[in-house]
Amino acid sequence: MAAKILDGKNLAAQLRRRIREHIAQRVAAGQRVPGLAVILVGQDPAAQIYVESKRRACAEVGIRSFAYDLPAEISEQQLLELVEELNVRPDVDGILVQLPLPRDISATSVIERIHPDKDVDGFHPYNVGRLAQRIPYLRPCTPRGVMRLIELSGTKLHGAEAVIVGASNIVGRPMALELLLAGCTVTVTHRFTRDLGAHVGRADIIVAAAGKPGLVKGEWIKPGAVVIDVGINRTGEGKLVGDVEFDTAAQRAGWITPVPGGVGPMTVATLLENTLHAAYKLHTLL
Ligand code: NAD
Repeated sequence: MAAKILDGKNLAAQLRRRIREHIAQRVAAGQRVPGLAVILVGQDPAAQIYVESKRRACAEVGIRSFAYDLPAEISEQQLLELVEELNVRPDVDGILVQLPLPRDISATSVIERIHPDKDVDGFHPYNVGRLAQRIPYLRPCTPRGVMRLIELSGTKLHGAEAVIVGASNIVGRPMALELLLAGCTVTVTHRFTRDLGAHVGRADIIVAAAGKPGLVKGEWIKPGAVVIDVGINRTGEGKLVGDVEFDTAAQRAGWITPVPGGVGPMTVATLLENTLHAAYKLHTLL
């Protein structure tokens, strides 16, 4: 294998350690503990696992998490009222609504109702707009975590060709804005893109986020490229795999993220960082 591994698990543990130290110092100085409200609607097993890992991570660093596990039958209005309540609670610095929501609740309406100062997922149009205008505020967690991994590789970002596979609101699009902000020449590919391989083949940096196992072929990778695999897919045998053909890609890439242990832990660590940022920069802690 030629590629070096970008170890997101280890990098995220370092970030959590720094956050924990920071919070301990602030609490020792008599300031209140930062708080994160985590809302889960329904019983989706994957969503339950993600929420559990976010709550565990909060406990590890000393963020107080407020759990709202709501039945799938809750109405959109009831959920919006809960968000409104949390928007004005002084002990809540961040509000996270785990997606996806049940079909009859509009994720757009719920996200837009979260106060932008408490939008620690960075999904509110205000926060995405700020990132688009090069004045980031609370940044979407997965793309921010990916940027940290790319920085770890030491790759020069100015002028680099970056190709993103996937154009969703939560990964692909904000990822493009982060890479553009960092000075890359950015291509965003999506389900209507013709000849994906040709785009991937000229990339110095590839971020795969389509949710399709094996979509990105190892033979497409330009030798020495940085390959970041955001995809999380469960195979028939229950194994977790990304969107990139790992073994063949690792023969050609300079750096590559594993799945699991790459982007996932960085997403959670960045959520904690955003909560801390919201507590200290956007709300008074005393
Ligand atoms: P999504 O389904 O909302 O978006 C998928 C995107 O991929 C779409 O824009 C679609 O046009 C594009 N796409 C589909 N087929 C394509 C093709 N053949 N070529 C190019 N693009 C194609 O998914 P999402 O929410 O953005 O998540 C994507 C993946 O990332 C999923 O596997 C998800 O589980 C994972 N994810 C991981 C993390 C993490 O922290 N590691 C966070 C969020 C999402």
